[in-house]
Amino acid sequence: ICRRTVMMKKILVTGANRGLGLGLVKKFLKNNEKVICTTRNISKSKELILCKEKYNDNLEICELDLLDKDSPNILSNFLGDETIDLFINNAGVIGHSAQHFKSVSSNHWLEVLKVNLIAPLLITQSIIKNIEKSSERKIYFISSKVGSIEDNKSGGMYIYRSSKTALNQVVKSLSIDLKPLGISVISLHPGWVRTEMGGPNALISVEESVNGMVDVISNTSIINSGQFINYDGTRLPW
Ligand code: NAP
Repeated sequence: ICRRTVMMKKILVTGANRGLGLGLVKKFLKNNEKVICTTRNISKSKELILCKEKYNDNLEICELDLLDKDSPNILSNFLGDETIDLFINNAGVIGHSAQHFKSVSSNHWLEVLKVNLIAPLLITQSIIKNIEKSSERKIYFISSKVGSIEDNKSGGMYIYRSSKTALNQVVKSLSIDLKPLGISVISLHPGWVRTEMGGPNALISVEESVNGMVDVISNTSIINSGQFINYDGTRLPW
């Protein structure tokens, strides 16, 4: 009898209470992977609590608010010396509705930049040691086509657009800085998805988006590091 030991991967996903984060967690758990996820409030994360009851040790939940400036330490302490094979920076906000030229304001803007741009890099910095311990060494940032400068045909949306454009630049620098460590860093567009953020008129379901993104994740490696990729596997312009 030929026995093959299948190593379970350990996957970290932020913003897993609902939407794409929750969809990714459910998909990975179904695939028998080990998942660590973050949510802002465990007691209010009903779906995650149900997942925990069903999957027990395969799911760990860390309480993390990216607006808390201590969040890098909190996540790093939660992980300890755990190996992380795949890290998906998913948590994000669209921000206040006043985002056109005449209505945009500094406080709303800064809050979105903290959640979508600054915290994702700082938490990555704090847990890079955990990713270095893996042989997979993959980091994905959930960005948005709305952040593509080349794709911007309709203007406006200053706050959300600029947060994702800047995130894409962070991804590029990080892909270069982490290349010597063999860590790949990729920017992923999930599609326009029916979540609270995407709204009911969005084009695809959470399942379609998640299935696509998981395929992209399986089919990409260090040679794709520094790319901006759609959930269907096509390259996107910066
Ligand atoms: P969503 O349904 O609004 O979910 C956002 C998630 O981020 C929630 O779990 C939320 O936690 C979490 N979050 C918000 N602020 C946070 C903070 N300060 N600290 C920690 N977590 C926080 O949105 P989604 O559609 O799933 O979006 C997921 C990612 O995809 C985002 O980065 C978004 O920009 C990107 N994206 C989405 C679409 C789309 O069409 N849906 C398109 C392009 C890109 P709570 O549940 O506690 O609020």
